[in-house]
Amino acid sequence: MTDRIERVVVHLVSAPVLGGLEDATRKLDSLGYTIVRVFTKDGVEGIGVTYNEVGGEATKTLIDTAIAPKLIGRDPFDTEVLWNEFFAYLRGVGRKGLTFGALSAVDIALWDIKGKTLGLPLYKLFGGGRTSVPVYASGGWTSYSDDELVEEVQGMVDRGFTTVKVKVGVEGGTNPGSDVVRVRKLREALGPDIRLLLDANNCWDAATAARFANRVAEYDPFLIEEPVFADDIPGLARFKRGTDIPLATGEHEYTRYGVRDLLLADAADVIQADGTRAGGFTEMLKIAALTQAWNVGFAPHAMENIHLHLVASVPNGLFLERLLLFEDITARTFADAPVPVEGHMHIPDLPGLGLALDLDFVLANDEASN
Ligand SMILES: [Mg+2]
Repeated sequence: MTDRIERVVVHLVSAPVLGGLEDATRKLDSLGYTIVRVFTKDGVEGIGVTYNEVGGEATKTLIDTAIAPKLIGRDPFDTEVLWNEFFAYLRGVGRKGLTFGALSAVDIALWDIKGKTLGLPLYKLFGGGRTSVPVYASGGWTSYSDDELVEEVQGMVDRGFTTVKVKVGVEGGTNPGSDVVRVRKLREALGPDIRLLLDANNCWDAATAARFANRVAEYDPFLIEEPVFADDIPGLARFKRGTDIPLATGEHEYTRYGVRDLLLADAADVIQADGTRAGGFTEMLKIAALTQAWNVGFAPHAMENIHLHLVASVPNGLFLERLLLFEDITARTFADAPVPVEGHMHIPDLPGLGLALDLDFVLANDEASN
């Protein structure tokens, strides 16, 4: 007997970002999740999420008014069919951005239903065998002083992380010399064994970025992320030809088509597409396959609780990203979400995503934000 989708509910949870945190190109005001709950006739509930840093209300409205009505009565196992129907239905109003955040959250919820119905964790459905995945701590905002930066990263190491990521591009990317000093101070504080990732958040042109990369090469960065504007694919390729430090990008790409263009242009060594924006698990499995065909790394951006099963299942999956900024709202939104231990996250022995919402928090926060 086939189960059917009966009801879809969307909640917004958010929290202000305090302390005036900035990266090279952006100040953060708030963060949070758009949460999609899909209920079936047989009483299974699937959970999916996307971001709502900006535009959560629009995402919720799109799901409530355009997507949910078309899900009612459908088989939740038809993820490929439904993905393609919605891709066609929505293509005129967005093949990137908020539209894809909405579609991604819905797709993730359907996969959660599949796992729960079968009584299997998602990594089993993906064919994976790993139950523990390396995770790195991510923070190090450009708005920090040099001392604050070193102190935060030291705290990451004290918590057991052996891979850490910080922002570069202080003063809006206008002072790469200061960034070189910051990277030197970090390497001196960390010693040689901690892997150090640098994220420039789109701030430079290719020439400036390559010069910076070559100046910090002696401090052994593991990779440099988004050194130029994410859509400047020729610029990413130029950067890559100018330095041997690996290039990571893709958190702003959507679908297999966006990742295909990065790979065809030889514009990435590590692909960081984010399943909560790029098209859910249905699309991320295809993106992961593309990265294998090009023999590059696969390391999805943020949302480690969602990406845990996927990275565990993909042979070229490098690690998860744990944004320290999200730790508080994640701990409040989910009951007993997995936490890193000694730089690894372990997959809970539970069906689907293995996540449960803390509904007291979600409903109270949703109410307050409406
Ligand atoms: Mg980034």
